[in-house]
Amino acid sequence: MTKIFSKPGEKHYQVIIVGAGVAGLTAACFLAKAGIQVLLLERGPYPGSKSVSGGAVYSLPTRELLPDFWEEAPVERVLVDQQYWLMAERSAVKLGFTSLEMDSKPYNRLSIMRAVFDRWYAGKAVSAGAELLTSCKAEDLILESDRVSGVRASGARQGDIRADMVILAQGANPMLAERAGLIKKTKASAMSLYVKEIIALPEEVINERFNLTGNRGAVIGLLGEATAGLPGTGSIYTFKEHVGINVGVGVKTLTRKKVKISELMAALKGHPVVAPLLKGGTTVEYLAHMIPEGGFNAVPPLVFDGMVIAGDSGGLVNGTHGINLAMYSGKFAADAAQEAVKRGDCSRKALYGYQKKLEKSFIFKDMRANREVSGLFQKNPTLFADYIGLLNSVSTHLSMVYPVSRRVKRRLIRRAVLNEQPLGKLLADAIKAVRVMR
Ligand SMILES: Cc1cc2nc3c(=O)[nH]c(=O)nc-3n(C[C@H](O)[C@H](O)[C@H](O)COP(=O)(O)OP(=O)(O)OC[C@H]3O[C@@H](n4cnc5c(N)ncnc54)[C@H](O)[C@@H]3O)c2cc1C
Repeated sequence: MTKIFSKPGEKHYQVIIVGAGVAGLTAACFLAKAGIQVLLLERGPYPGSKSVSGGAVYSLPTRELLPDFWEEAPVERVLVDQQYWLMAERSAVKLGFTSLEMDSKPYNRLSIMRAVFDRWYAGKAVSAGAELLTSCKAEDLILESDRVSGVRASGARQGDIRADMVILAQGANPMLAERAGLIKKTKASAMSLYVKEIIALPEEVINERFNLTGNRGAVIGLLGEATAGLPGTGSIYTFKEHVGINVGVGVKTLTRKKVKISELMAALKGHPVVAPLLKGGTTVEYLAHMIPEGGFNAVPPLVFDGMVIAGDSGGLVNGTHGINLAMYSGKFAADAAQEAVKRGDCSRKALYGYQKKLEKSFIFKDMRANREVSGLFQKNPTLFADYIGLLNSVSTHLSMVYPVSRRVKRRLIRRAVLNEQPLGKLLADAIKAVRVMR
């Protein structure tokens, strides 16, 4: 295949990476280490300035790519306490698991602030030899004979920048590929809108409220009334001197129900079981971000002549988990790019090894397996809310001490259950749930 040559005076790169999030940074590190001339473009003033995550990095998969990263990476707390709160309007059923096994190396989950972590990670890519351009936006892909041969940039560097190939890692909105007509516009039904608040609180207050000691941390998944019963999730993460709270719902649901995500956040922060955790804190950041939650069926084509798509841009998210999928897809993209560049052939066929690695990895296997679960919730959007409400009313009756016999109390509970969910629906939903869990 023909190599693309730059005009005289223009620097030609072997690989341009669009987006210095965890996918782009991982690709940049591996390519630079392999001696490939790589340019990493980031529209924000620094890597991490535009990235949003709940706040945890998973140490076992991450250490395969970044050995013993916790020794030097800016990690906040070791997450040893995982809870799920199934919330009703004025109550919550709380399920939890604390494990001090996870408090020793290699740990399990470590809370991170993306604005700090991505900056540290970018330092590694730059030390390995990658060129990083911040405040530089890729406006368009350059297409020549249906082949991607660079990007048209604005900001810190303006105009056309050419390369043998491009790795598109621009996060949840793969607008460059959409605008170039390479993939279809992402459907609103495959996108969720999340908001996140970072709230400053003294370390000792966080430890006391979350029942933590030293550097240990907690994460709480919030379901049910957390999203006013709409299909979506919320969560709370502890950092050293901050607590992060986020909530998100599908874009289509928000539009159809005419609900503002900011209103859901305000209601969640004021919920009687959540508010005491945040009391007296100062909001230091308010962030909004999309998550492509369409699952396996919404993954677009990922390999083109002269380009591969990695991370959130390729819809590589399982539920709300995307960090490791982004990192691994970045590594696979770097492997395929390195081979193709060295062979002087960046055609779609030559880059197809990227797709094959995704197929063989946990990324496609898990996303494929999870396809049925996401389908179940798409077809039954109130499933979570219905059963969480039921669980809370049963728990209320179980906890209450009435001046009646146990037999009468059991009848009361049975009636409460069947009032909310008729027996036929209960059985049908149980069968559906068992089928998708197989
Ligand atoms: C609220 C929230 C909570 C989450 N919680 C978790 C969690 O607990 N666990 C988990 O695993 N995942 C979580 N995720 C998902 C996770 O954050 C993403 O999957 C992950 O960040 C994807 O990495 P990425 O590199 O593909 O994209 P990003 O991290 O979004 O990076 C994309 C980068 O590209 C840059 N960019 C975009 N367009 C351009 C352009 N035209 N030119 C130059 N630069 C550009 C952006 O500024 C950004 O820096 C969460 C996401 C959200 C929103």
